[in-house]
Amino acid sequence: MVVAGGGFTGIETATEMPARLRAALGEQADIRVIVVDRAPEIGASLGEGIRPSLIEASAHLGIEWILNASVESVDAGGVTLSNGQRIESKTVVWTVGFRASPLTEHVPGTRDRQGRLHVDGNLKVLGQNHIFAAGDVAYAATDTVGNYAAMSCQHAIALGRYAGNNVAADLLGVAPMTYSQPKYVTCLDLGAWGAVYTEGWDRQLKLVGQEAKDLKTQINSIWIYPPAADRAAALAAADPSIPVA
Ligand SMILES: Cc1cc2nc3c(=O)[nH]c(=O)nc-3n(C[C@H](O)[C@H](O)[C@H](O)COP(=O)(O)OP(=O)(O)OC[C@H]3O[C@@H](n4cnc5c(N)ncnc54)[C@H](O)[C@@H]3O)c2cc1C
Repeated sequence: MVVAGGGFTGIETATEMPARLRAALGEQADIRVIVVDRAPEIGASLGEGIRPSLIEASAHLGIEWILNASVESVDAGGVTLSNGQRIESKTVVWTVGFRASPLTEHVPGTRDRQGRLHVDGNLKVLGQNHIFAAGDVAYAATDTVGNYAAMSCQHAIALGRYAGNNVAADLLGVAPMTYSQPKYVTCLDLGAWGAVYTEGWDRQLKLVGQEAKDLKTQINSIWIYPPAADRAAALAAADPSIPVA
């Protein structure tokens, strides 16, 4: 199996695959999982807090990396890389690139490279009086020192709370709340090897292995889900002053 792109999605997909493929095909199945990435190093953009765990997990799980190469074409039998190399594969997973919804193209305004709309501190689209943006379509400053929200549920949840509050405030003519989310964490799943958890935009290592995996499981099975369809619970969960982890 070939995974095109070795960013967060590609890594989580690839490291999960050996266990899943063996569960489906049998313990003795001859499986290969190959990640193709154009960067010169494994996990080049993830920082030194994460890279050692990723390298160890890849070796432990038997994940192969092909670096300095991009997937140039995909056909029924496999992929051809920019360096001319051919890899036969029955399954190719494409994980390259985030993109904001094309609906954003209908809104006049400044955009970042992913198509996200630039917003002010109250999440109103710059230059627009009645349009707010949140989540994956908003290019929003998270603090006053130059960091911006990633396309992540971590940011989308808080952005949604502030945007909802500020739309209501706008309609009611009361003061909005300025979006602020200085804390940033990363929790990367590494399949059967475990996971890695870092804090800060410089990704300082805090947890590895099973401890990080337990946290990741909690995030994926509890934290990212919306509240029950109950008016009081939904309104309580939408409060922008809830501290964000
Ligand atoms: C494979 C993968 C793994 C990820 N893992 C993580 C992770 O581990 N941690 C993390 O923080 N983030 C992760 N993310 C990112 C995270 O999922 C997104 O950043 C987050 O879901 C963005 O929330 P959102 O509400 O802005 O958009 P979405 O969650 O995409 O929600 C948009 C909703 O709008 C609907 N919609 C779209 N167009 C229209 C329309 N025209 N009219 C009506 N409805 C419409 C869609 O169906 C969807 O339900 C991952 C993303 C992917 C793809």
